[in-house]
Amino acid sequence: MTEETEQVRAETPDAEARWRVGVSKACISAGICLAEAPHHFEFVGVRARPTAEVIDSAEEAELVSEVADDCPVGAISVVRL
Ligand code: SF4
Repeated sequence: MTEETEQVRAETPDAEARWRVGVSKACISAGICLAEAPHHFEFVGVRARPTAEVIDSAEEAELVSEVADDCPVGAISVVRL
């Protein structure tokens, strides 16, 4: 889990909240993110990327944070804006 992902959980969600989702160059194309959240990730070339860089749902942010936990190389970040 990245430091930014931990930050998501430490903060209380609210109606105005938004989160930025990213995939770093550390991605090794393991595909776990696409398997667990196919609406949030896609492959472009050899790396995954988020289908939307900004999400505004706390539930979706929690889901993507859980996927970030499962990424074997910690390539996924979820940062509250
Ligand atoms: S789970 Fe991590 S390593 Fe695997 S494709 Fe997604 S971002 Fe890349």
